Amino acid sequence: MELILILGPMKSGKSFDLISYFAPLKYTGIPHTLFQSSRNVRDAHIWSRNGLELSANKVGSLSHIDPDKYKIVGIDEIHMFSESDVTWIDKLLRNGVRVVVSGLDLDYRGQMFPVIKRLFELGPTEVRYRRAVCEVCRTPDARYTQVLHHKAALLDGAPACLPDDGTYEYVPVCRACFVKKTS
Ligand SMILES: [Zn+2]
Repeated sequence: MELILILGPMKSGKSFDLISYFAPLKYTGIPHTLFQSSRNVRDAHIWSRNGLELSANKVGSLSHIDPDKYKIVGIDEIHMFSESDVTWIDKLLRNGVRVVVSGLDLDYRGQMFPVIKRLFELGPTEVRYRRAVCEVCRTPDARYTQVLHHKAALLDGAPACLPDDGTYEYVPVCRACFVKKTS
């Protein structure tokens, strides 16, 4: 069945897109649900910066999803899940479930998360690349997420998926403003 990916940096409206997709479904008889990683300690809901929110099930792994129970499954912040969870997304698709996934595609170094690479191997039906406003030069073309630690750009040596508990600051930036490690 269909796999839709909604990808982009922080503050690019990914959750807004996911909510827009799922909010009307409650008026239909189509069985659907949303999942979010239990590693996200910040929210109990999928929320968007314009004030919209939808409740989501918090799970540590996608292996808990029953493929016979739903016709449409949404997964928020997919970058917080592991590569092995893609096996379960594949199983949902093989069972005829439509899967809509949103999350960061690139880590703080500008490298693609392994879980995103695996999703591309499943041959998505549609990929929506969202862009944010660059917080350095204000062009509406931010595609990277610069991670700041004590106001300095984090360049390397940290885990790819960092906690969102206030330790780090996440800033969407464009290609010209993105600071990366020079090798
Ligand atoms: Zn910029």
